[in-house]
Amino acid sequence: LDPEAFSDDSHAVLNFLAEYYRDVDKYPVRAASLEPGRLRGLLPDAAPEWGEPMDAILEEVRRDILRGLTHWQSPSFFAYFPMNASSAGFAGEMLSAGLNVVPFIWAASPAAAELEGVLVDWMGRLLGLPRGLLFAGGGGGVLQGSTCEAVVCTLAAARDRALGRHGAVILSRLVVYASDQTHVTFQKGARLVGIPPANFRVVATSAVSGHGLTGDAVRDAVEADVARGLVPLYLCATVGTTGVGAVDPVRELGEVARRHGMWMHVDAAYAGSAAICPEFQGYLDGAELADSVSMNPHKWFLTNADCCCLWVARPRDLTAALSTDPEYLKNVVISDSADHDDDKDVITSSAASAIDYKDWQISLSRRFRAIKLWVVLRRYGAAGLRAHVRRHVTSAKWFEAAVAKDERFEVVAPRKFSLVCFRLIRPPGFPDDGDVNDVNRELLAAVNATGRAFMTHFVVDGKFVIRLAVGGAATEMRHVRAHLTVEGFPKYLCEILTLR
Ligand code: PLP
Repeated sequence: LDPEAFSDDSHAVLNFLAEYYRDVDKYPVRAASLEPGRLRGLLPDAAPEWGEPMDAILEEVRRDILRGLTHWQSPSFFAYFPMNASSAGFAGEMLSAGLNVVPFIWAASPAAAELEGVLVDWMGRLLGLPRGLLFAGGGGGVLQGSTCEAVVCTLAAARDRALGRHGAVILSRLVVYASDQTHVTFQKGARLVGIPPANFRVVATSAVSGHGLTGDAVRDAVEADVARGLVPLYLCATVGTTGVGAVDPVRELGEVARRHGMWMHVDAAYAGSAAICPEFQGYLDGAELADSVSMNPHKWFLTNADCCCLWVARPRDLTAALSTDPEYLKNVVISDSADHDDDKDVITSSAASAIDYKDWQISLSRRFRAIKLWVVLRRYGAAGLRAHVRRHVTSAKWFEAAVAKDERFEVVAPRKFSLVCFRLIRPPGFPDDGDVNDVNRELLAAVNATGRAFMTHFVVDGKFVIRLAVGGAATEMRHVRAHLTVEGFPKYLCEILTLR
């Protein structure tokens, strides 16, 4: 890396991005061009033989790539869940990418590995997690790229713990439990660690429990399996489900899991960020009964992708499943002391101060994510992050109340965080054989086609529901209010109903 070229190219990219962020609300939020193959048609078939100037590359990004992007950082992006970018998150990401160190074993980058250990404890304390999940209390944490990876790792840990307890013949008898609202990443993880698809229990939820699991429903499913000679392995509880933001009762489920010797994981990928505010920490009550907890700072915590915190109560369960110990990856500490002939020591990877993070995740090579999260926490402070979360919750609350007051709409699931799920109810004079789901589908398509906002949908209890997920770093109340003004939903609603 030539420092001069590095400085020039980086400044060009910074200026490009600063201009992008100045104008981001002017782009159609959802990709303007949705024809598959458009970009392939514009690009040559092979990579260039010779390097090109950065300006020419950025010009092509501006001309060809930006049109094909959905602008996740637009203040009017309300789809899926937010994926926050912030100037501190970006600065941290630059440090991570710029230093480009690889903390797979402690000795490979001691300060990077140690910072990660400190950071997961900081995060755990901020979220009010029990001490037992922190290094300070005998547990510990790691920064992974995604919840999906974290879930696979904990499933592998749970599987090996169960096989160790029951003997190696029972893989086909291990059963995992989740709800009909649990993120599909859990099914993928279960498949990857060898759980037969027939042993994946999807426990039904209903509007009565706000689409959260109940201890009784899980207990019934587990007892039926035990009676058939199966072995309950793993229960995934979610705090803030993807579809409607539902919350599974962590304590109640933890008690069922303990009684049956199951691993319980708490997936707080989105809503975990809210737990930085004391008023939301109650949703994690009972986390001391969990074997593992995860949340994604890259969703709603002003931390650029990617970053997922995973905490485990017994790190040895995780490292027993994931560790490898080849000679070329041993930590060797060189002592400076001249008094010692024997000045080389191999230190053990289990020492809390010398963590080998390769044993806490799937890949060997890994990014220095801790420095990014560290910059975010230091730059905004806990108070700044609380204000960020509360600002969005206030906007979502306003939208929920406004929709509830409007007799054309209904709020489909009670809002707990910053996700509002709503739909149009049967309009007066609507034909008896008409499907209100179709009108909602058309309404959502009409709003997204304007390019002024992007929302996504979910189907719950057979109802097509529009999801407005507030949480963009630049999203303010005015961006949320815009949808209920004359130019927002009402306009498209009138057009759709008039056309019928
Ligand atoms: N769990 C929940 C509750 C989610 O909402 C999501 C994504 O939105 C995931 C898991 C998947 O997260 P990741 O993309 O980090 O694997």
